Amino acid sequence: MRVLLAEDDEVLSDGISKALRQCGYAVDLVDSGVDADLALTTAPFDLLILDLGLPRLDGLEVLRRLRSRGDRVPVLILTARDGLEDRVTGLNLGADDYITKPFDLPELEARVRALLRRSQLGNNVEIACGPLRFDTTGRSVSVNNEPLELSARELAVLEALLQRAGRVVSKEQLIEHMYGWEEEVSHNAIEVNVHRLRKKLEPEGVTIRAVRGLGYLLETQA
Ligand code: CA
Repeated sequence: MRVLLAEDDEVLSDGISKALRQCGYAVDLVDSGVDADLALTTAPFDLLILDLGLPRLDGLEVLRRLRSRGDRVPVLILTARDGLEDRVTGLNLGADDYITKPFDLPELEARVRALLRRSQLGNNVEIACGPLRFDTTGRSVSVNNEPLELSARELAVLEALLQRAGRVVSKEQLIEHMYGWEEEVSHNAIEVNVHRLRKKLEPEGVTIRAVRGLGYLLETQA
């Protein structure tokens, strides 16, 4: 799940992105309307969190352009407490939900989860493979109907492997899936997370096979 966060308040954007990454989402940050508009036209996102008061192109204009391109990505707008008019305009322009500043991060996380769940209805929100069940919007995994505790990074690795179950997933694809643009990318970090995940999954009959030079393959016993 890839989230674009358009927010020019550095403290706020830092807090939101940390919280969402802990939930296992990949978060890309932009701090102006122009950059948000550019990012939205060049990369696919599962959710946009959009501050309305952005420099170099107002958030409402970003939203108007997005919808006029026919892009249906779910949009959560961040508005000021006294911004009733903006809220109404935003919803009329096709925002899916709004949250008023200041807000608590758990509330934001709940809204994000609800929006993603709603947008995925009709899509496959649960990925199943052998004894594994992965709820992509609730960010939880069970194996043989027992919940499995995984870190955010492990969740992201498993999600990428499950989405391509039966096919080899390259390290580059894993990195792409796990990291936002501005984060340090490390092949070692991938290996460490694959190793941890493998130790948790092997007792359950799920193996992650390393294919030399190519990547990883998720396999379950038939
Ligand atoms: Ca702002």
